[in-house]
Amino acid sequence: MRLLRLSVLAAAVLAVAGVASPSRAAVNVMTTTEDLADLTRQVGGDRVNVESIARGYQDPHFVEAKPSFILKLSKAQLLVVVGRELEIGWLPALIQQSRNARIQVGAQGYLDASLTARILEIPTSQITRAMGDVHPQGNPHYWLDPGNGRHVAKAIADKLSKMVPGDAAYFASRYADFDKRLAEAEKRWAAVMAPYKGLKVVTYHRSWPNFADRFGLDVIGYVEPRPGIPPSPAHTIDLIAEMKRQGVRILIVEPYFDLKTPNSIARETGAQVVVLTPSVGGEKDITDYVKLFDYDLDLLVKAIKQTGAK
Ligand SMILES: [Zn+2]
Repeated sequence: MRLLRLSVLAAAVLAVAGVASPSRAAVNVMTTTEDLADLTRQVGGDRVNVESIARGYQDPHFVEAKPSFILKLSKAQLLVVVGRELEIGWLPALIQQSRNARIQVGAQGYLDASLTARILEIPTSQITRAMGDVHPQGNPHYWLDPGNGRHVAKAIADKLSKMVPGDAAYFASRYADFDKRLAEAEKRWAAVMAPYKGLKVVTYHRSWPNFADRFGLDVIGYVEPRPGIPPSPAHTIDLIAEMKRQGVRILIVEPYFDLKTPNSIARETGAQVVVLTPSVGGEKDITDYVKLFDYDLDLLVKAIKQTGAK
């Protein structure tokens, strides 16, 4: 009798442990960018350990493939990537050298976030990397539309739920909470940008088509002749003439580009250079995805007001 009681007790303890254990083990997630890391944290909460390979202040096209990432990738259960060849210059070697079957391209632990996002600038003719264009699969900077951030967060929540079905309700409720906070922020941002609909801007790299589309900006030119190709004197002269013709007052530059050409364009045209950060972590105040837009829109509106651009 005593023995029976003990075995019943043992079975009960095991049952409790069995129920509790799936929610205790956090999923090891690696992401290529800090934006994806934050979206993973938003929906994954304390059930995920997340780390990004690229830092938010780096040009995501060109990241140093440090060997320390190989070890981290070898332990990852999930790898979330931006896709559209954004990481093609540095990620494939890291994935291969990790020898981690779970996160190889096409495996269960590989999530291409671009698959559920709205992608702009998909080329209609064949573009090869030999032409130097770093956007041959459409524009990979799609996370700069909060609508796409929502799609990506959902895709990550769904993936985590498949991996840990016992925590599916937790991920779903985290996603619902994120969705609600993002929707509130989107209303705020729409109101802030409403007076500037159709405002003409120039950007250094083609990082901002989704951002421009969402917030009503009209990008009329780029400092780079093609995505990934440094400015040339001939292109810069043409750009200055076009900016003067259209009265462009705002020149958006990503933090990792040299300001020499943008500053000389600004001198010639009377435009203001505005350094906007494309990623979470690019500035110390940008600690999450919602704050990224708060930060950039605040800087942009200040510059618009200063220049009297309309
Ligand atoms: Zn790019």
